[in-house]
Amino acid sequence: MEISEGAGVTVHRTIGTPARRNLDPFLMLDHFGSDNPNEYIAGFPAHPHRGFITLTYMLDGHMRHEDSMGNRGDLGPGGVQWMKAASGVIHSEMPRQSEGLMRGFQLWINLPASEKLSDPAYQEFSAGAVPRVAADSTVVRVLCGEYAGQRGPIEDPHTDVSYLDVELAAGDSFRHQLPAEHTAFITVFEGEASVAETPLQRHQLAVLAPGEGLSVTAGRDGARFILVAGSPIGEPIVQYGPFVMNTPEEIEQAMRDYRDNELVQKKAAFRTR
Ligand code: FE
Repeated sequence: MEISEGAGVTVHRTIGTPARRNLDPFLMLDHFGSDNPNEYIAGFPAHPHRGFITLTYMLDGHMRHEDSMGNRGDLGPGGVQWMKAASGVIHSEMPRQSEGLMRGFQLWINLPASEKLSDPAYQEFSAGAVPRVAADSTVVRVLCGEYAGQRGPIEDPHTDVSYLDVELAAGDSFRHQLPAEHTAFITVFEGEASVAETPLQRHQLAVLAPGEGLSVTAGRDGARFILVAGSPIGEPIVQYGPFVMNTPEEIEQAMRDYRDNELVQKKAAFRTR
């Protein structure tokens, strides 16, 4: 689903649309971007979240951010931010271009009931802290989880998420093993690729069938995609915009707390590298 953001900038949303409300444990996936310096993305001034995690990966450009935990910074190209909103965070996210480019992904990861009202937490890493595994003409950036013995800097303790950015040359294949019980998906954002003879179009969400082994083959212009997997939670999901809880009563509580200025209950330590 294409969502118009600012003037002319398009956000492609695959998870979190009427056609696919969620993909347990994932609640939303947005791919935002612009390669036209005249386009402008308005960004997201102060807004709340409760009950889940946001994971933002910048491919190009920057995102200035500030939150109620006291974190403040500028996520640069290749940087990744994991923000566990849990009981409540208010933050602002203001993407901006550098050299006319701005591209990235935002993924929402659900939390189990036992963690939804826990303390917020935060991890942020620049590109230099993200392992880059290059073999032949394949380049894999490991944001979260493991690949070829390299572990990504983001630790996701609740749903064991793995998140790889994979770049393949024309005709090359990428093979990987994932836990059989994990939910897994791929989104191609450059070139073309196929999984099990099924061609994947750019911006499409390819939900992988259960199993452990995965093989992706690039088309004639090569391909770049993200591969994301995580352990499903298997609990009821009740969502109202930026609040994702287990029951309607908990959503009403979140709205009351926000209205009464009580959404933010805890500040957390800043962790970065
Ligand atoms: Fe946000």
